[in-house]
Amino acid sequence: MITTLAGGVGAAKLIDGLSSIVPPEELTIIVNTGDDCEFHGLHISPDLDIITYTLAGLVDEEKGWGIKNDTFNCLEMLEAYGHDTWFRLGDRDLATHIHRTMMLRSGYKLSEVTKDICAKLRIKQRIIPMTDDYFATKIKTDTGIIHFQEYLVKRGAVDVVHGIVYDGVEGAKPAPGVIESIMDAKVVIVCPSNPLVSIGTILAIKGVRQVLRETKAKKIAVSPIIGGTVVKGPADKMMRYLGIEVSALGVAKLYSDFLDIFVMDEVDAPLVHEVEKLGIKAVVTNTLMKTKDDRIRLAKFVLDVASVYKKA
Ligand code: GDP
Repeated sequence: MITTLAGGVGAAKLIDGLSSIVPPEELTIIVNTGDDCEFHGLHISPDLDIITYTLAGLVDEEKGWGIKNDTFNCLEMLEAYGHDTWFRLGDRDLATHIHRTMMLRSGYKLSEVTKDICAKLRIKQRIIPMTDDYFATKIKTDTGIIHFQEYLVKRGAVDVVHGIVYDGVEGAKPAPGVIESIMDAKVVIVCPSNPLVSIGTILAIKGVRQVLRETKAKKIAVSPIIGGTVVKGPADKMMRYLGIEVSALGVAKLYSDFLDIFVMDEVDAPLVHEVEKLGIKAVVTNTLMKTKDDRIRLAKFVLDVASVYKKA
């Protein structure tokens, strides 16, 4: 079994590649829920939706999130009523949030709702939220502590970041299957996702770092930082403000207590020696996933390096 730790868009691309070569029943995806938020009375789980829409073949490939060819009529009407509409929610996408919220209100856990959504969208891979409990990633800025979505989407990640707050972390238990799927895996893949607000949140859940250190699985990560910069998103800014070196090496250090293998981009080959000084095997390849072939090639590379599947 292969278990992956995932954020949103960066992770979804690698998982799409993996799903082309790994039988669905052998792939488990543990997803960040620190970005979850409430809009218009609905529970939104942005990263879970990116992963489910990707595996269901529904995702808007251009944006990397939302449903392809979606319309925004409901949001326009909400705007006419004077509601905040900076968080873009398409009409078909809203159906997911309504369905999720209805189930949560009738007492189902987020992991149960996610299982239901996967079944209805005919997704055979196992997708698990990192926790069923309240967990909200918040950012300390000059204007106060704001929700990550407000920092990223509403304000466009322009604020100086003084710190990250994992609100609710003390009470957040791993969702059913999180610990077991790491313990029982042959390979654990840390996707190329924001190391602080997508992977860092999963690692902050009680017991997760420990089981990553204890499991016999090979633990392999793909760097989200290529040549000292991001492909998209605010990871580089956030790392810089928090005094973390903005490089593949900086990311490797964040995972060094449990990681066996680190996959970096070819342009970061000069960092191999430094990463290996951390006790991690470092390998390089082209890690930029622009096309479907790139996704499959990188997924194959990761699995080959982890020696699960023989080279094609
Ligand atoms: P988000 O929640 O939608 O921002 O997505 P993630 O947290 O999953 O991923 C964001 C991170 O993924 C950023 O740091 C990007 O640099 C990285 N990323 C996105 N696409 C790629 C890619 O094709 N290759 C690599 N190596 N990293 C990527």
